[in-house]
Amino acid sequence: MIVETSAGLFCEAGGFYIDPWLPVERAVVTHAHGDHAHPGSSSYLCASEGEPLLRRRLPDALIEALPYSRRVRLGQVDVSLHPAGHIRGSAQIRLERRGDVWVVSGDYKRAADPTCAPFEPVRCDTFITEATFALPIYTWDPPSFVIDDIVAWWRANRADHRPSVLFCYALGKAQRIIAALHGRADGPIHLHGAIAAITGTYRDAGVAMAPAERIAEGMRGTALAQSLVLAPLSARGTPWMKRLSNASTGFASGLMRVRGVRRQRAFDRGFVLSDHADWSGLLSTIGETGASRVLVTHGWSEALARYLAETRGVETGTLKTAYEGEAGELTHEVEDEV
Ligand SMILES: [Zn+2]
Ligand SMILES: [Zn+2]
Repeated sequence: MIVETSAGLFCEAGGFYIDPWLPVERAVVTHAHGDHAHPGSSSYLCASEGEPLLRRRLPDALIEALPYSRRVRLGQVDVSLHPAGHIRGSAQIRLERRGDVWVVSGDYKRAADPTCAPFEPVRCDTFITEATFALPIYTWDPPSFVIDDIVAWWRANRADHRPSVLFCYALGKAQRIIAALHGRADGPIHLHGAIAAITGTYRDAGVAMAPAERIAEGMRGTALAQSLVLAPLSARGTPWMKRLSNASTGFASGLMRVRGVRRQRAFDRGFVLSDHADWSGLLSTIGETGASRVLVTHGWSEALARYLAETRGVETGTLKTAYEGEAGELTHEVEDEV
């Protein structure tokens, strides 16, 4: 039902592409991250909750929004979107034709996230799963533990009169952190402009979040000594950072599970907080779908496909995307600066 093409995954019977990276006639988009939502297509279909975010990225596009679980007929295929739990509005795409069911996961996670609907397991015959963190070393602690660590780090820095700069990607991760700090923040939260704009879209959608303000132009030094500052990685090493010269720096990412990565990238602290499923989350999800065939994409796909073939006895394969990095989340951090 789905084949790889030079423009992306294509469903011929339905006449549409999923997250195409070249302009096409009809794009069905799993979510608004830059490596999934590319400009130039004639029309886009996305989940209703994700529409304002997709519109931010593609202001002039023709976008059609579909509530989760509602079916539409595209060509000869029944299509519906189901929560992926990755960022707000993220969707798995379910395709059904003559009793054959395929699900394309897009990016997904199983951990709690107050900014979006939780992942919904969907039964299918063929499951196309992401594999951003598909290695056994990737295991996540409960997000509440990570938030506790962030709060403790912030408090210690406040006692030293140093700002706490927490790098995170601008769409999804930042808002997840601000929402998790709702009712817990005991100091001021300040935002880089790129994060402030997207956070506004989340607030407009009614997501409850801690108070947080964009850093004003002249703000620097002692004015930020008590603040938790959220900034995208792209702000690192730019003149914008000069106002925060004595800051303690942290990075919130699944990549921080690997200590060498934190050292190499010279953050004072790493907080292991990911918007992707960890190894056990991937395996349990694949089991829950009941799929007899699992196609793996986006990240450590070979490793996961091999493991599934050896241990689960399911038919497996890998699919290439235009953004195959050794760690997909890093790709997101580079791609997702708005
Ligand atoms: Zn994503
Ligand atoms: Zn992705």
